[in-house]
Amino acid sequence: MTKKILILPGDGIGPEITAEAVKILDACRESGLDAEREEGLVGGAGYDAAGHPLPESTLAKAKAADAILLGAVGGPKWDTLEDLSKRPEKGLLGLRKNLNLFANLRPALLYPQLAEASTLKPEVVSGLDIMIVRELTGGIYFGQPRGIEQRDGENGKERVGFNTYVYSESEIERIGRVAFEMARKRGKKLCSVDKANVLEVTILWREVMNRLAAEYPDVELSHMYVDNAAMQLVRAPKQFDVVVTGNMFGDILSDAAAMLTGSIGMLPSASLNEKQQGMYEPCHGSAPDIAGQGLANPLATILSVAMMLRYSLGEPALADRIERAVGKVLDQGLRTADIAYPGTRQVSTREMGDAVLAAFAES
Ligand code: NAD
Repeated sequence: MTKKILILPGDGIGPEITAEAVKILDACRESGLDAEREEGLVGGAGYDAAGHPLPESTLAKAKAADAILLGAVGGPKWDTLEDLSKRPEKGLLGLRKNLNLFANLRPALLYPQLAEASTLKPEVVSGLDIMIVRELTGGIYFGQPRGIEQRDGENGKERVGFNTYVYSESEIERIGRVAFEMARKRGKKLCSVDKANVLEVTILWREVMNRLAAEYPDVELSHMYVDNAAMQLVRAPKQFDVVVTGNMFGDILSDAAAMLTGSIGMLPSASLNEKQQGMYEPCHGSAPDIAGQGLANPLATILSVAMMLRYSLGEPALADRIERAVGKVLDQGLRTADIAYPGTRQVSTREMGDAVLAAFAES
């Protein structure tokens, strides 16, 4: 059946980088991918056109799509909007919530050609290939009750801020299964990150992971406290294969892992629900400082198309072809400004997209 893909360019560099990714997507369609695509507005672009960061028409298209490719949202133009529900990022949160995109996959893969771009020593990071599986729709970011209120304290009334860290067994189990399945397809090692020495929620998290492990005897499960995990990520990151963790710990660790690879402009991500419907986007934001100048690196968005082909469209061979094409272009020494260093050739956003397209066509 013909698959439906929704393209949401968004704001800032979003339209520039998605334009390059769409070229590759169209080349995949010419190579046999049975898919149609349409566009929609989200973020600040949605607000400007329809008064809402997630216009109803966009949400309807998103629900009907098999996969969504999103550029990025946000920018200074909308930072002063007083109604917080109209801020661009609410468009993203709305998509995650409405489509129940509970599993966030964030690979941290270092192309060997870019080992010099990392702030860590090349021998520590070269060959790095980690997949962080982050729970995305629960945990302390969504738990109730939450708020800031006046309470009686020892020194009289004062304001108190509070949030609730909560996970149900079923929420832990479903993200656990995604992670075990992922580990099974990769290096068969899964590290579950928690804070079970302090937090009851994560005692339950650890229990559920241990229970699931019995169903995946081919996967080696280990546990690590989050503070140690942060340390190990910068000390010896290659020890990790798949990492599974909750929303807040995953938020922080995946950004740290991203920087091991040198540039945020290289990192794709996927957010999936139980039907493998997914939203695919680069890890970075809308980079207003370089928007419209042809400086943005489109590779994270192009690699997001590869993830889309692999996880939502059932086309792993095309995904491999895109990833190989990206490797080939890096071998040729082509670099956008964020990953350029002496001896490489700096190219624009469009030139980088065209080079990947040419390498894809030759493969
Ligand atoms: P950012 O990721 O947009 O930019 C951080 C730095 O990285 C900037 O110097 C930028 O120029 C650079 N950069 C980012 N992507 C790049 C690319 N593809 N190529 C080359 N350089 C790149 O983060 P920020 O500056 O904190 O946020 C800017 C805006 O993006 C804000 O409005 C923020 O809310 C929004 N944002 C959106 C998302 C998203 O859409 N998923 C994520 C993070 C931030």
